[in-house]
Amino acid sequence: MNSILEVEGVAAGYGELPVLEGITLEVGRKEIISVVGANGAGKTTLLLTISGHLRARHGKVRLNGNDVTALPAHEAAAMGLVMVPEGGRLFPFMTVMENLQLGAYHSAARTRMDQTMEEVLTLFPILADRREQLAGRLSGGERQMCAVARALMALPKLLMLDEPSLGLAPIIVDKVFEMLGKLVESKGLSVLLVEQNVGNALRLAKRGYVIEQGHILKSGRGQDLLNDPDVQRSYLGL
Ligand code: ATP
Repeated sequence: MNSILEVEGVAAGYGELPVLEGITLEVGRKEIISVVGANGAGKTTLLLTISGHLRARHGKVRLNGNDVTALPAHEAAAMGLVMVPEGGRLFPFMTVMENLQLGAYHSAARTRMDQTMEEVLTLFPILADRREQLAGRLSGGERQMCAVARALMALPKLLMLDEPSLGLAPIIVDKVFEMLGKLVESKGLSVLLVEQNVGNALRLAKRGYVIEQGHILKSGRGQDLLNDPDVQRSYLGL
């Protein structure tokens, strides 16, 4: 079995409101997968459902072949399904170091916390420099790095990121995406990324999915989707 994540026929929503319908996708080991779509297409809902914050109404989610569909988020996280929420959601009045420590909240991560902290601060030297600074005083790019670093403290097998480019200047977006590429190479992680920044996300990803109104419209290699006339017209303004 080669996939770390398999999502099969998943439906989910809020109260009476159906948002996702028949979502099927997979993430291979050490693969970066992007799910791209417009505002309101259901990208955040998809990550919330996979991570167990929202209950799937139909379908299955498997991590490493294990059925995690009905697991609450903290149990799914302990198995390696870790999400970086939109905007990072750091605690602004806590230091960088304290935010990172909070990432190591399940028992396996806590046991290994000092070691992981050292690895993470080596990966992100800027955070080592800023370790005593309040997270609320970080720049947008540093905040996103800190949010990714905090997620690494939870020992993810699959890292899921909700719009890491949101609100960042284009040059910083490039840096964040470059960092993600390096992370996959150095740590052997798998990444599921959801983005409105279709160009950057599909350039980074080996494969991608286009989501529209809660349905997967297209899927394929990142480069092929970038060359797809419909994708170019709808999302790249070409
Ligand atoms: P964005 O880029 O704006 O985050 P998205 O693709 O992530 O968009 P979702 O946030 O998943 O989209 O939203 C999908 C649909 O679900 C939208 O119609 C939204 O209004 C609705 N929705 C999202 N969160 C809730 C909620 N907590 N309660 C009810 N409806 C919600």
